[in-house]
Amino acid sequence: MDVGRTSEPRPFWLAGRPATGDAEQAVTNSHDGRVVGVHSVPTPEQVEQAVAAADAVRKRAAALPIHVRAEALAHVARRLTERAEEIARLISEENGKPIFWARGEVGRAISTFRFGAEEARRFSGEVQRLDTEPAAQGRLAYVSRVPYGPVLAITPFNFPLNLVAHKVAPAIAVGAPIVIKPAPATPLSALVLGEILAETDLPEGMFSVLPVPNDRASSLVEDPRLPVVSFTGSGPVGYSIMDSVPRKHVTLELGGNAAAVVLADADLEWAASRVALFSNYQAGQSCIAVQRVIVEDAVADAFTDKLVAAVGSLVTGDPADDKTQVGPLVSEDAAVRVESWVNEAVSAGARLLAGGTRDGATVTPTVLADVPADAKVAREEVFGPVMIVQRVASVDEAFAAVNDSRYGLQAGVFTRSLDVAFRANRELEVGGVIIGDVPSYRADQMPYGGVKESGVGREGLRSAMEDLTYEKVMVLTGL
Ligand code: NAD
Repeated sequence: MDVGRTSEPRPFWLAGRPATGDAEQAVTNSHDGRVVGVHSVPTPEQVEQAVAAADAVRKRAAALPIHVRAEALAHVARRLTERAEEIARLISEENGKPIFWARGEVGRAISTFRFGAEEARRFSGEVQRLDTEPAAQGRLAYVSRVPYGPVLAITPFNFPLNLVAHKVAPAIAVGAPIVIKPAPATPLSALVLGEILAETDLPEGMFSVLPVPNDRASSLVEDPRLPVVSFTGSGPVGYSIMDSVPRKHVTLELGGNAAAVVLADADLEWAASRVALFSNYQAGQSCIAVQRVIVEDAVADAFTDKLVAAVGSLVTGDPADDKTQVGPLVSEDAAVRVESWVNEAVSAGARLLAGGTRDGATVTPTVLADVPADAKVAREEVFGPVMIVQRVASVDEAFAAVNDSRYGLQAGVFTRSLDVAFRANRELEVGGVIIGDVPSYRADQMPYGGVKESGVGREGLRSAMEDLTYEKVMVLTGL
């Protein structure tokens, strides 16, 4: 199948087979408004069929031999490798992501599936001796992990392949069927992933990819045959889903306003280049993009000069161009919102050190200083190429500033001190502390997720596999 062709609607995947529904949906590129693909939209009856198929295969899926699961995941990694450039171009087109970052995302998705194949082989439970107490002498416990059942995966637009991979790989690794509802703005790469999954020996019903509009998603959320909802996206949507199904096992990977702390002993050149790049990568549309830069007074002037210079050297433009580092936001509406938040901060007294302009869906990389504490760019998640620089007098103040947020996904601390590194780890209220780099660092195998309003549960292969399963104990007596 030609990726990106617009003449025939791309099918969706119903219980592992291609299917067409009752309507078509076009997907556009936010850089130039071009239609880059059209897909078929499942009917409510087809949504029902996908859920019924997932439910029907539930027991068989849980009993699937490990080598079958692992080989399916390894196959996906191989095929993504073979089709890497084509899929990177598709991600870039549907998302507006610069091709450089899109290639990086495909590379990460390949790793995610490889790690999934490896973890599937390691996930075998444990044996516990119970004769640690006289009363349990002669008994032994076998502790295994059992999938709760079929998983509903709801994913956002900003990493349309790798964040789907982070749901699919652990589900298959633990033997759970999965129904994927990709983001309406960027469903095409998930549909290609469906194509690749369909080449595997997984049983019918093990996966469906249903690009339904949000108003057809509530039946999936509410259906008791999908006991797990694994959601990545914004807080308001995530919490409303969690509140609507209190008896389900819901995990939420939500947003943030991540902070990078630059202390007086940091390598300022390195810190400035990393902060500049990772505030603006994917036009700031990452849940761990640097939004707040917290700098110790002693180096604040020198660091800010380097930062503004580094931001000024970023290449903004056409996402299809190999040299582009910063492309458009997902839509012009999103860019207009970001621009209005910048203007609001400037009207309230913030100083604009760089950027602040918009052309269609593209916002120029923006640096603000002296931002009032209650401005939206300080308190909310900007999800755009905007950072604010805050000066602090000490490490104490720096860590208090990081924690002055209702979010807590990851934080970065540029320091050369091991003492300060361990202190940051103790004191920062986040799911991940990155020493010597930006909060935006993520290796796909590591536990990843937030505290506070950044979410519940963890991804990263092993952690997600634990979230999708419960521990079951079998006690053997008379040994
Ligand atoms: P969003 O919340 O608007 O949408 C996320 C998904 O939820 C989409 O598939 C959307 O169609 C679906 N959805 C929306 N309303 C729904 C409903 N009523 N019922 C069922 N599904 C519904 O988020 P977005 O704009 O696509 O993504 C951006 C957000 O995602 C940001 O807040 C970002 O921080 C967050 N995010 C978090 C992580 C993480 O791992 N923590 C990673 C990436 C993005």
